[in-house]
Amino acid sequence: MIELINKTTFTFNTEKQNHLHMSWPILKKYYINTGKEISELLQNLNNNHEFDKLLSYLHQNPKKKFIHSMTHLENKIKYYSPMKKKDLFLKFAYLDSSNNKDVIKFADNHGLPKFEKTIYNNAIFPLHKFKDEVKTANELISIYELLLKDDIKELKKIIKRKDKENKKGNISNHWWEIAKIEIEERNRSLDKKQNVIFLFLLYISKVIEKYTINKISPVFKQMKYNPNNFNKHFQVLPGWRCSSLLAALYMQFYLFITENKEISYCKFCGSPFVKDKSTRSDKKFCSNSCRVRNHQIKNSNK
Ligand SMILES: [Zn+2]
Repeated sequence: MIELINKTTFTFNTEKQNHLHMSWPILKKYYINTGKEISELLQNLNNNHEFDKLLSYLHQNPKKKFIHSMTHLENKIKYYSPMKKKDLFLKFAYLDSSNNKDVIKFADNHGLPKFEKTIYNNAIFPLHKFKDEVKTANELISIYELLLKDDIKELKKIIKRKDKENKKGNISNHWWEIAKIEIEERNRSLDKKQNVIFLFLLYISKVIEKYTINKISPVFKQMKYNPNNFNKHFQVLPGWRCSSLLAALYMQFYLFITENKEISYCKFCGSPFVKDKSTRSDKKFCSNSCRVRNHQIKNSNK
């Protein structure tokens, strides 16, 4: 067994995953608009200092595309718990981000990855950043799938590719460089299969750390007590609060890896979903609706 971290690590009980609570807002409807188009939409609204700052940001980026939603009513904002949607990281990582319709669909169902700008219920996130985030998530899950398949040949190809990207000075590969340096410092030769695995796990863990650091904090979720027998029944239940959807997604990915989960693909729509080894291993569909639709089509063909 390889020891990955020799510093003090902290773990928490994940048996009751619903304790990893957080809520994330979904505004009524998202659109892709340019900075110019959004600033025109906002022009007539009540101006104040914050709004002016947003407007000047949009004026500086007139051609840049943003995913944008706006609402004036608090009751038009829906909240949900991303940690309860156990396939969400996979959904995000396998999103076809070249298709703007799919990007909008994701936002309409799950909100934005984080808030780039949020002023008076205007949620704005640059479209190209959204696509970059999907790309990063997709790379990590693809690497993890190769690790599960024990496909060292393909992993070694990725090492070559990423090293080349590094030479171009791509900033998003910063964590790859750090992982490589740590491997070199430990004198672990990449000729050895276990060191290749080690390198990729190190890289994945660096990226997860980047997305979750300072974004997830422990909170007291609930207090239980019995007024008639206070001492015996007093209990504070744990919870975790995430301040960005990406932090929650990467936390989910972390749990996915450490709880030894696998990926299955829906027999009807092809979507990836988490295969939970402890529960039904024969699950073939990503959702109930896919199962039902598959059944209907099978019957109509008879
Ligand atoms: Zn499906």
